[in-house]
Amino acid sequence: KKWVYLFTEGNASMRDLLGGKGAGVAEMTRTGVPVPPGFTITTEACNEYYARGKQFPEGLWEQTLAALKVIEEQVGKKFGDPDNPLLVSVRSGARESMPGMMDTVLNLGLNKETLAGLARLTNNPRFAADAYRRFVQLFGKIVLGVDGEKFEHVMSEAKGRDRQDTDLTAEELMQIAETFKAIIKEDAGVDFPEDPYEQLRMAITAVFNSWMGRRAVDYRRVYKIPDTLGTGVNVQTMVFGNMGNDSATGVAFTRNPATGADELYGEYLVNAQGEDVVAGIRTPKPISKLREEMPEVYEQFSQIAKMLERHYKDVQDVEFTIERGKLWMLQTRNGKRTGMAAVKIAVDMVNEGLIDKRTALRRVQPEMLNQFLFPIVNPAAAEHATRLARGLAAGPGAAQGRIVLDPDEAAARSEQGERVILVRTETAPEDFHGMVASQAILTARGGLTSHAAVVARQLGKCCVCGCGDLEIDYKAGAVHVHGTDVILKDGDWITVDGHSGWVYAGQVETQEAEVIQVIRGQMKPEDSKLYGYFTTFLSWADEVRRLGVRANADTPTDARVARLFGAEGIGLCRTEHMFFEGDRIDAVREMIVADTPEDRRRALAKIEPLQQGDFEGIFEVMDGLPVTIRTLDPPLHEFLPHGDREIEELAHKMGIDVATLKAKIEGLREANPMLGFRGCRLGIEYPEITEMQARAIFHAAANCQARGIKVHPEIMIPLVGDVSELRMQGDIVRRVADEVMAETGQKIDYLLGTMIEVPRAALTADKIATIAEFFSFGTNDLTQMTFGMSRDDAGRFLPLYVERKLLKDDPFEVLDQEGVGQLVRMGVERGRSTRPDLKTGICGEHGGEPESVKFCHRVGLNYVSCSPYRVVIARLAAAQAVL
Ligand code: PEP
Ligand code: MG
Repeated sequence: KKWVYLFTEGNASMRDLLGGKGAGVAEMTRTGVPVPPGFTITTEACNEYYARGKQFPEGLWEQTLAALKVIEEQVGKKFGDPDNPLLVSVRSGARESMPGMMDTVLNLGLNKETLAGLARLTNNPRFAADAYRRFVQLFGKIVLGVDGEKFEHVMSEAKGRDRQDTDLTAEELMQIAETFKAIIKEDAGVDFPEDPYEQLRMAITAVFNSWMGRRAVDYRRVYKIPDTLGTGVNVQTMVFGNMGNDSATGVAFTRNPATGADELYGEYLVNAQGEDVVAGIRTPKPISKLREEMPEVYEQFSQIAKMLERHYKDVQDVEFTIERGKLWMLQTRNGKRTGMAAVKIAVDMVNEGLIDKRTALRRVQPEMLNQFLFPIVNPAAAEHATRLARGLAAGPGAAQGRIVLDPDEAAARSEQGERVILVRTETAPEDFHGMVASQAILTARGGLTSHAAVVARQLGKCCVCGCGDLEIDYKAGAVHVHGTDVILKDGDWITVDGHSGWVYAGQVETQEAEVIQVIRGQMKPEDSKLYGYFTTFLSWADEVRRLGVRANADTPTDARVARLFGAEGIGLCRTEHMFFEGDRIDAVREMIVADTPEDRRRALAKIEPLQQGDFEGIFEVMDGLPVTIRTLDPPLHEFLPHGDREIEELAHKMGIDVATLKAKIEGLREANPMLGFRGCRLGIEYPEITEMQARAIFHAAANCQARGIKVHPEIMIPLVGDVSELRMQGDIVRRVADEVMAETGQKIDYLLGTMIEVPRAALTADKIATIAEFFSFGTNDLTQMTFGMSRDDAGRFLPLYVERKLLKDDPFEVLDQEGVGQLVRMGVERGRSTRPDLKTGICGEHGGEPESVKFCHRVGLNYVSCSPYRVVIARLAAAQAVL
């Protein structure tokens, strides 16, 4: 079996086999871009390594040696040859790019002899010593698992206060390398390997092992990348950016990854190698500076960058090295970007004729649209706030939180419900869990391509990086603001603005995002470029999608927001949510504890005008669009007080004695309320409740219609399990409708339907559809009842299920297509078998989750309904379902 491919043997279509990086360098090689020669060990080899209990697959080592031979011939150097040593880098590269998650070893092949050879050959002993120092450091950290901070510590001690790493002499660097080896010996208990082949074998093994390392696994869990993909291993001839002032190394994006602006964006360091740029050892220079420092190289570089962008028809994130004035491209991949940048770039590229609209729609993950809706720092509040320092605006939004310097602690404290901001000199892959847990990430060093920035952008998390005025003292748990006497302590509040890059002391008020301001009429659409891109992009989604998108909204205010986000109706109005407004709850409680139907009707009469008013408000806002209103659903005890004092107060208010009220409340107690007296069962025992609600709905509709508002009420009966339940409730609704229509003279066009949220309803959907004119799948309850997992208690054990991979996702978040999905599919099919024009939708939480939305499209639902803020996500997901 072929486990090893030379760069000259691969191409872009081989991502699965070679990983993203391997396919990228192969494709660049193929298109004639200068790439240092090398080869890729396949992802299949990685999987086979695990399948064989962490043993190299048969033939892998032999093929590696053979490929190495070819490379030796290409570059005229020999691996391990003291006179003319070939050095290589060893890097991971999975199919999905996982920035910083996997490990890189540089300068592999160095030992005492080859080091001397390198010094002679380059006539530069300092360079050779530096290369050796780096190799020992990276190998020690990555391959042998020694804590990287120990090496960093030695380096900073050696540099002292005012020298940079470039100021260290050859002798000092050799001394440092020796110290590193001693640390390795002590920590890992092994001698540093001298044999280059042994080094190579160990490095390949380390890359394989890192695939199952904690940070890679954490990362894949967040992004739902399967463990079975495996990683490739890229072995590539070293080129050196640290050979003097005509050498450099850098990273760049072909467009600005934070804003989407069409400009070459990146950073480089002169006389530096590999990780220096990303790790922020020295502050890198912006790529525009390269135009002045090395105009010819810059010209060539920008041409290659544009060429790669056109070739891949997408923004590229490239790594390059300049060795003695010669440009080498080390990597290219599609660049990660913020949601804002993703939309702008997609729209711009359509306008440039580079991609079509459908491709543009595929390029943006639905959740990324959230970033347009993220809060910003209130400008007026910012005027008066204390500005501590300014860094690079690297991740969207604004966030307040307490300073935490340690990622483990950030994770722990956030778990406790605290809002924390992770503040670090720089971040590293092992900090990932702490970054995920924080409201925002703030770093003192590193540019927009630093680890912190890349990860934050991807998480859609607020981030300010490279905030050079912050001096972070981990030992003291303090942050000193340079040039001031301000010292921030662990636990202090700060506010971070990911749009401007400012860091403020304390909690500074935040406010709505630009798009929200436009939507609310607080800003003119033409004053917001963001809004323009946002709406253009979404209008393309609307052109292709077939699934309708409605919102779950209970009040006129929610309905208004939903409509502005593009909702095409209301898919669920939970009437009871309005019971808690003002002092309505009193009348509701009166109704619940009433002894006789007369008493109950008296209490209901108080609620009716209030409900009617709410419905009128909603119909008004949704003029011309359907509004689904559900009759009372939750268990009644949810509306009653439980504390002694509150019960006493209520008894007093109602003029009944405490013991009687207590007995009432006790009588309503259920062992399992979610499967108890709720849903249509309430209206079956107390038909006057359904009656009152129906009257409120139809009176509201009649009043609105008389005022010229187009109303389309859809009355929905919850928790039906048998058609008889729906028949009985439906009879009430239809009777009241007739009465109100006769009384008002308004003919109202309405539908009667049901929720499908009990498995039995899905199984008998054909019968239920003889009465129901529409179905709305209540997948919250349907999931609860199909899994037999209480939606209120599952939080205790479900995370474990997901962590241990018993379940891929939390089924209350992502629809379980295999199980619950079958009931949905069956419900639609059986329902339509007796009523072909049955309207179907979903109103459980899944209605705004992209994968679930796509499923709804596939089973032929007419619409999804979700919370107002997720409407835009659903619009895009529905479009992607078609593509
Ligand atoms: C459902 O069960 O999915 C639903 C929408 O109803 P509720 O969440 O109000 O029970
Ligand atoms: Mg329900």
